[in-house]
Amino acid sequence: MADKTGGCLCGGVRFSARGIETHHHACHCGMCRRWSGGPVLAAAVDGLTFDGVDNLARYESSDWAERGFCRNCGSSLFYHLKPQGLYMVCVGAFDDPTGFQLTSEIFIDHKPAGYAFAGDHPRLTEAETLARFAPSETPATSGRADGSSPDASLSQSDLQP
Ligand SMILES: [Zn+2]
Ligand SMILES: [Zn+2]
Repeated sequence: MADKTGGCLCGGVRFSARGIETHHHACHCGMCRRWSGGPVLAAAVDGLTFDGVDNLARYESSDWAERGFCRNCGSSLFYHLKPQGLYMVCVGAFDDPTGFQLTSEIFIDHKPAGYAFAGDHPRLTEAETLARFAPSETPATSGRADGSSPDASLSQSDLQP
């Protein structure tokens, strides 16, 4: 989709994103839940530039990923998969958060029962998520347990946390 701008709640961090995917996924893992206060809805982008980098903090949530937020207001801004250099921007941080379609949910078995997203799309448990996106030494099983076809919209880079 067209380039989008966005930023944190206080305006201390502003960003401009290019090459934004139109689909996004929802991650219900415990790390995303604590980081954002709920599920993380994020879309991959090809390029991301920042204004206010002095306010931008990065938390290394694992050996391979970091999460960006504003050190002044705490807004969750992005998930950065370091080996691939891939940035996934929190959809809610965009000034215009429209135009995205939710195409998958991961770590669905960690979702609290009190809320649920509507729609017909793959919902992967932790085991299914890891089986599909774990490093390649783990033999990937073909297809999903329910026999439906693999979701082409997910890629290796969608692995969280
Ligand atoms: Zn801020
Ligand atoms: Zn997650």
